[in-house]
Amino acid sequence: MVLGIDKVLGDSAMARLSDELIGRIKHEVSLVRLVEAKGFTLKPHGKDYVMCCPFHQDDTASLVITPSKNLWHCMGACQEGGSVVDWVMKTEGVSFKHAIELLKNDLPHLAAESNESPKVVKKKYKAEITAHLSL
Ligand SMILES: [Zn+2]
Repeated sequence: MVLGIDKVLGDSAMARLSDELIGRIKHEVSLVRLVEAKGFTLKPHGKDYVMCCPFHQDDTASLVITPSKNLWHCMGACQEGGSVVDWVMKTEGVSFKHAIELLKNDLPHLAAESNESPKVVKKKYKAEITAHLSL
């Protein structure tokens, strides 16, 4: 049995969020790209990036983004932090499931190695999901 790709990535997949999909989104959606796509300005800081935290009154660029871990953390007043999913939940004011939905749609554009066209990414997904299911 092969699960159709549309069942995994389609609009009706809300109720079928798998741990695998969530894991992939957390790893493959580039936080740096996501943040920049939303119009924030990042400043390189060693291996990390810093920016003014949008979640508290911040003039000192307290928010640190670590691309190697794909995580963010505010070192200032609010001490918030997390993954791309937490970022979307907080910036968009949406639920976990809704954040996954939004990121799933963005995934082909925001994937870390997005030289690949969305079509190729989709193909890759299908292959991996198929492999996963046949275990
Ligand atoms: Zn903050």
